[in-house]
Amino acid sequence: MPNRLLLAAAESKRLEEFASNNKLTRPIIQRYVAGTTLAEALNVSTALNRDGMDVSLDLLGESVTDVAQADVATDEYLRVIERLPELVPGQSVSVKLSQLGVALSSQRCEENLRRLLVAAREHGSIVEVDMEHSSVGRETMAIFRRIQEEFPETRMAIQANMRSTLEDLTDFKIPPRVRLVKGAFLESRDLAIKDADDVTEQYKYLSVWALKNLPDPAFGTHDDTCVDVIKTAAAELGIDKQSFEFQMLQGVRRPLQDQLVRDGYRVRIYLPYGTQWYPYLTRRMAEKPANLLLFLRSLAG
Ligand SMILES: Cc1cc2nc3c(=O)[nH]c(=O)nc-3n(C[C@H](O)[C@H](O)[C@H](O)COP(=O)(O)OP(=O)(O)OC[C@H]3O[C@@H](n4cnc5c(N)ncnc54)[C@H](O)[C@@H]3O)c2cc1C
Repeated sequence: MPNRLLLAAAESKRLEEFASNNKLTRPIIQRYVAGTTLAEALNVSTALNRDGMDVSLDLLGESVTDVAQADVATDEYLRVIERLPELVPGQSVSVKLSQLGVALSSQRCEENLRRLLVAAREHGSIVEVDMEHSSVGRETMAIFRRIQEEFPETRMAIQANMRSTLEDLTDFKIPPRVRLVKGAFLESRDLAIKDADDVTEQYKYLSVWALKNLPDPAFGTHDDTCVDVIKTAAAELGIDKQSFEFQMLQGVRRPLQDQLVRDGYRVRIYLPYGTQWYPYLTRRMAEKPANLLLFLRSLAG
């Protein structure tokens, strides 16, 4: 169950500054983040690719405060889209619409996203849209719906903990490509299922639903019980192991990632890079209580 305090800390600018200047947080950063530069991220991508895994590169950063920052992020993503395919076939990029300016101007954000989609198609890669907090979630969904008909190859993350998810999914004219995740943000009881076991049950239900109803579904989870349900359901439905994929985060459960590749499944690693690691990392700490102490100790110096 995500730790409420840590999820709240993810939004604290003061803590972010403190953690960013603290040498002791470095080993934790290195585990989850591919590096601060695109060159470093490309090296890690190439190594993962050699080990039989695809990657989805994520330029760290979210919630820009002016449209110029959104344009800078878009330009950086364009550079990634241009460079990655020649080095790492089968890659995708994962974008947060808050980073492309959704909270400032939905129209500008959509224009930025469309620039990425056109470039991705030209260079043979795929864009995956992350799903963020509900404060921008509805607009993210609305923009995805608008681009989906023209760019049906685009994938969007969808959160099992959100009560509206099944209705959202059945409301598409063209079945969407999705990445099903449990949900990493602090949400109210009105909008989201709060009990961790209930979220897991809902995840399993939606996984089987996605296998039956959606094209090329992706399952973003490290939960053994969810992975087993997906493997069993796919086998029972006669769905080929290459017709869906597991997605996992860099630094989380590497042995499971390797085992899935050995067993013939497609595996994609979500690979963040860049300097703005703080909100991303605090969400990762919230997911794994054992990491919490390490993180707090490093923050306290
Ligand atoms: C590829 C990918 C993309 C994602 N994109 C989004 C998104 O767009 N929007 C969103 O809201 N959420 C996203 N998430 C996060 C997701 O919502 C969950 O918070 C996260 O995956 C933990 O859930 P779990 O299914 O792994 O199950 P859990 O029950 O949380 O974890 C199962 C097991 O995995 C291991 N584990 C899980 N997390 C960690 C960690 N951080 N460090 C170490 N071990 C860990 C532990 O062994 C744990 O027992 C994404 C996750 C993945 C894998």
